[in-house]
Amino acid sequence: MATNNTKIIKQQRNNSPVQRTVIPVEIRNRLNIKPYDYLEIFTTDDSIVLKKYVQNCVFCGSQDDGQIFKEQYICNNCKQGLKGDQHD
Ligand SMILES: [Zn+2]
Repeated sequence: MATNNTKIIKQQRNNSPVQRTVIPVEIRNRLNIKPYDYLEIFTTDDSIVLKKYVQNCVFCGSQDDGQIFKEQYICNNCKQGLKGDQHD
């Protein structure tokens, strides 16, 4: 039975000049990783860990869709609220 801890082992060559590694499509689909999504990379004792980077809105903390503005992530709902607060 497959679990989140299921190991997917694929023989991959990681010998390109820029050391690229492809994340298998099964894993990308399971974690809903789309092209250009951000990933965190870190190490444990003997492993390299890639983790989907989830951004939280700087105002409300939600993980809803949004965008980076001046290096801060703002969800679309708060972005709309900001536009409504303009007094000009
Ligand atoms: Zn927000």
